[in-house]
Amino acid sequence: MKSPAFDYVRAESPQHALALLAQHGDEARVLAGGQTLLATLNMRLSQPALLVDIGGLQAWRGIEVQGGVLRIGALVRHVEIEESALVARHAPLLAQAAPHIAHRAIRNLGTFGGALAYADPAAEWPACVLALGGTLVLQGTQGERRVAAADFFQGLYTTALQEGELLAACELPLAAADERQHFSELARRHGDYAIAGLAACARRAADRLLDVRLAFLSLGDRPLRASAAEAILQAGPLDDARIAAADAALRAELVPFADLTHSAAAKTQLAATLMRRALRALAA
Ligand SMILES: Cc1cc2nc3c(=O)[nH]c(=O)nc-3n(C[C@H](O)[C@H](O)[C@H](O)COP(=O)(O)OP(=O)(O)OC[C@H]3O[C@@H](n4cnc5c(N)ncnc54)[C@H](O)[C@@H]3O)c2cc1C
Repeated sequence: MKSPAFDYVRAESPQHALALLAQHGDEARVLAGGQTLLATLNMRLSQPALLVDIGGLQAWRGIEVQGGVLRIGALVRHVEIEESALVARHAPLLAQAAPHIAHRAIRNLGTFGGALAYADPAAEWPACVLALGGTLVLQGTQGERRVAAADFFQGLYTTALQEGELLAACELPLAAADERQHFSELARRHGDYAIAGLAACARRAADRLLDVRLAFLSLGDRPLRASAAEAILQAGPLDDARIAAADAALRAELVPFADLTHSAAAKTQLAATLMRRALRALAA
């Protein structure tokens, strides 16, 4: 199918984009990498009268260490994250997750901010940003505000972005020297959306893991932390008994959505398998 007709404006600055959104309200949509939006237009799932192309805004590009955090602009493309030395050093979880996002052609165009703002529960970036304890920088006509990842993802394709606001950047804490990060997912074919995935971080100390953060994707209506399993894992030495207790806690706390091919029980089993793999990697 072809998309319905729409007007198109290339925004010259963030203020220009925000002014257009304020003027046109619900009739306007911003276009970043277009890898999701153009498909939804072609399928006529969305029929905006105006597309505001923010792809050329330099202010929202760039990956830098600034004020003790790794700041990634909303318009940074997936491939730039995959290839960034700063990301590999300070947030290796993202470098590990990037190759799982679709295929190279899509990663060349799709943006970090587009994926975070779209908030697909099967997407990799929301789970990673949640596991890393990231902060989303939102910009409106009245200025900026910061929202923790835990508060940003609010449901299926639903975020804390309010009408007229855009995502400008995401700030991530720099990985500590003793921190380990691990991303893994299970998909039918490489590049497909994950059946289940896990973004995991912890600090490694002697015989145990500290500050364990497990964020699952593709299990619910948003990325999900496994707080009961995390609490057990960081309460003492990481031995077989503790891993078994965490496994039981995870199975009790997760209530996955079934999808077209996998039951909730199958997804729970996959999540538990991913957690055991992640623990081996984090403890190695
Ligand atoms: C075949 C295929 C397979 C894919 N597989 C995966 C996958 O495995 N994992 C995955 O994570 N993604 C996957 N994607 C999606 C891809 O990662 C997209 O790039 C991403 O979801 C959206 O980014 P974008 O820059 O293309 O956004 P766009 O398509 O331009 O926009 C998406 C939505 O976000 C809004 N938006 C964009 N930027 C902003 C902003 N800065 N502030 C506020 N709102 C904004 C737009 O208005 C629109 O509603 C796939 C896409 C395709 C076509």
